[in-house]
Amino acid sequence: MATVAFHTLGCKVNFYDTEAIWQLFKQEGYEQVDFESAADVYVVNTCTVTNTGDKKSRQMIRRAIRRNPEAIVAVTGCYAQTSPAEILAIPGVDLVIGTQDRDKIMPYVKQLEQERQPINAVRNIMKTRAFEELDVPDFSDRTRAFLKIQEGCNNFCTFCIIPWSRGLMRSREPQSVLNQARMLVDAGYQEIVLTGIHTGGYGEDMEDYSLAKLLWDLDKVDGLKRIRISSIEASQITDEVLEVLQASDKMCRHLHIPLQAGDDEVLKRMRRKYTTEQFASKIEHIHRIMPGVAITTDVIVGFPGETDEMFRRSYQFMEQMKFSEMHVFPYSKRTGTPAARMEDQIDEEIKNARVHELIDLSERMQLSYAETFVGQVLEVIPERDYKGQPGSGLLMGYSDNYLQLVFEGSEDWIGQVCRVKVTEAGVNECRGQLVRAPEAGAVHLSSRATGTDVSVETIPGQAAKAIV
Ligand code: SF4
Repeated sequence: MATVAFHTLGCKVNFYDTEAIWQLFKQEGYEQVDFESAADVYVVNTCTVTNTGDKKSRQMIRRAIRRNPEAIVAVTGCYAQTSPAEILAIPGVDLVIGTQDRDKIMPYVKQLEQERQPINAVRNIMKTRAFEELDVPDFSDRTRAFLKIQEGCNNFCTFCIIPWSRGLMRSREPQSVLNQARMLVDAGYQEIVLTGIHTGGYGEDMEDYSLAKLLWDLDKVDGLKRIRISSIEASQITDEVLEVLQASDKMCRHLHIPLQAGDDEVLKRMRRKYTTEQFASKIEHIHRIMPGVAITTDVIVGFPGETDEMFRRSYQFMEQMKFSEMHVFPYSKRTGTPAARMEDQIDEEIKNARVHELIDLSERMQLSYAETFVGQVLEVIPERDYKGQPGSGLLMGYSDNYLQLVFEGSEDWIGQVCRVKVTEAGVNECRGQLVRAPEAGAVHLSSRATGTDVSVETIPGQAAKAIV
């Protein structure tokens, strides 16, 4: 049997795309093997969010070539999209395919089996207006299903290269989203995470449809218990979206809203489309309609021109927002972006000190958020055995408001809703006690195969850590 191995760098969208590419190989009868073993085909799904993303991508491509110099090496993803020539210059690379046309990967592999002539299959992404339809009916080693609903971004924040690697906003057809949601529920998933490059922008390129309408349609999918939005901009939380959040009991009490900076001057230089005042008013509204909501965020520290005074203001603003977790990224130059050309770059030492201050703040806020739930009973979907140790008798899972809970239970409950009382709050993990086990007879997901190999990079505007 022919074998294929994957390595994914970057964010959850890349992770999703790899799963979709794996489906195409699977349909052709391939077996998936570990990236470290000798495979017939290697697929490296690259990231270009920072200059380090490019470097790590090149390292993984070279590693694949070393593992089996006879193998077909296919490189896809964001770095492949922006720098195909650089990748094809690496001896041993056979195929470069960017962030579109992945459905053609199998014909290309067959062509390469006949004649080993390197193929550059990258096309101009800025001309693409269609959503690349790739289904993922099943996820390796995951209890939460990811459903990609949109691609691309029109924002052009000054630190971000993503629009150049992913193209402009494209939403997936509603029927296609709903069909996939039903398929995932039939496969046993109770939680779906809606994902994309600019997920909350879903529908902005459609005439009579919107994110709020999609959420209402998903709310009607029988058997689906939880809907989570991976990330949404404050400005995209419209009154209609707020209405669904408030009225649907499937919508998770958790929103990831990227702030990036808590100072108006920095926000302006980042070309973010809100002020701290607008952001704060949206957050306040959400808390009013969804008591106990967890709001997580991303922040970039040490953006060019960020003075001590601006950082202090940012810090205070974040403290006032009472986030339940912050993902803190030191600003990292990305060649080709306006911010990389800004003159007043910040010294690495200053950046690191600020990063540490914000990580401490995040941990304090995480703990105080978790403490408010001690004694309460929450619905938790266990994801795996605690610390990946089968037989420990302990399970780990997330509540709808994104508290990670560890509690005693049976492996058979993985992927199903359990009711758990929070007994002890912690920064990253809380302890709990089972109150009610899942109903018998539900499909369980504990015996899934090992997933594709993943390494997570930071991606501005996206909660890689929050949902992967
Ligand atoms: S940070 Fe997010 S919103 Fe801004 S350009 Fe990048 S992907 Fe778009």
